[in-house]
Amino acid sequence: MNRYSLAHLTDGALLCGLKTNLARERDFLALVLAHLAEVEARRLYRDAGYASMHAYCVHGLHLSHDAAKKRIQAARAARDFPALLERVAEGALCLSVVNLLAPHLTPESAESPLSATAFRTRFEVEELLASRCPQQAVETRVEPIAQPLTLVESGGTTAAVLTEAQGAPGHLQEIAKAPGVTPIGPDHYRLRLTMSGAMYEKLRQAKDLLGHRKPVPGELQILELGLDLLVARLEKRKFGATDRPRTARRSRSVRHISNEVKRQVWERGGGQCTFTSDDGTRCRERGRLEWNHVQPVARGGGSEANNIRLRCRAHNQLEAERTYGRQFVQHKREQAKLAATKRRAEKSEEAREGDDVIPWLRRLGVTLGEARFALDECGPTAGLDLETRLKRCLAVLAPPHRKTSAGPALH
Ligand SMILES: [Zn+2]
Repeated sequence: MNRYSLAHLTDGALLCGLKTNLARERDFLALVLAHLAEVEARRLYRDAGYASMHAYCVHGLHLSHDAAKKRIQAARAARDFPALLERVAEGALCLSVVNLLAPHLTPESAESPLSATAFRTRFEVEELLASRCPQQAVETRVEPIAQPLTLVESGGTTAAVLTEAQGAPGHLQEIAKAPGVTPIGPDHYRLRLTMSGAMYEKLRQAKDLLGHRKPVPGELQILELGLDLLVARLEKRKFGATDRPRTARRSRSVRHISNEVKRQVWERGGGQCTFTSDDGTRCRERGRLEWNHVQPVARGGGSEANNIRLRCRAHNQLEAERTYGRQFVQHKREQAKLAATKRRAEKSEEAREGDDVIPWLRRLGVTLGEARFALDECGPTAGLDLETRLKRCLAVLAPPHRKTSAGPALH
């Protein structure tokens, strides 16, 4: 008998069954969120062959992008506020409301919003939040776009629809709401975008510069030409891609990976993370790829092509944890974070000074302390140009008998 055929049930049994199963669904949802939170905390998605929790949910667990995003956000909130899960299990909060509430919860005052929003609809919760944190109203403007491949300028903003298919949407508002790429057929995608006046000006300039070509390229061809150039440039920066590879000079550092090796490894890996899980799942990540030594340098590994592989950031970290232990890697990561925070603080300190002389002095080997001292000592410099201010600072720093009249030229 088909367990999903319910025609034989009485009305009472049908309604009772519905309530029972809904209660189960809510309880299961809370359990799913708890599991997701723990899986992410242990970063088990990496072992399963995925670069992020989202990739694992979409490709490993076959959730839709939207469902994965909502559940991951809710699971993260539940880690900080476990009471959320109890409310979800009893049906007081649905997933959408959990996501709405999460940014407004604080450890000191989590209970109040949880109680205030229990059994409320999403719309009611939005109204409640809006009354507590009003947002600035956004002006709505709708303008028609006459035809596909037409650019429409409006108050410094240009709306564009670039499509190889028919049926471009008719409203600017619609385009702004639905950015991104949509597959529309075999080997065909539709891109909808709203571009700034500056970007439109670049598009127009490119069209003018390509005006000698017959036929004159359209906007779509110009974007493709631009992307060709961008990809070539980024590949060159990433691994020295070139049509005329040269034999690499030998580096003194064993950690140095030559462009020739990078090219080989990139081609061998197809520009994709090559991590494969125990069950054979290959990581799909193509962004933020890093070069990973199979045999670490610290353990005698070299930088030849057969000892280098492509790893996404998550899997590069996983390999490091497997080699050196999670605690050691965590410690190193925290040290690196502290160093980065210190560097940022130094930079913001320079910016705080509000004087662009400091970076120039630092390039000349002057310490930050000496540069600040020179700035303090050289008196008011408002209204003076950069070269004059730099000369004054150098005059403060140089011993009297070695004072230079010219100062370094600025290039
Ligand atoms: Zn990966």
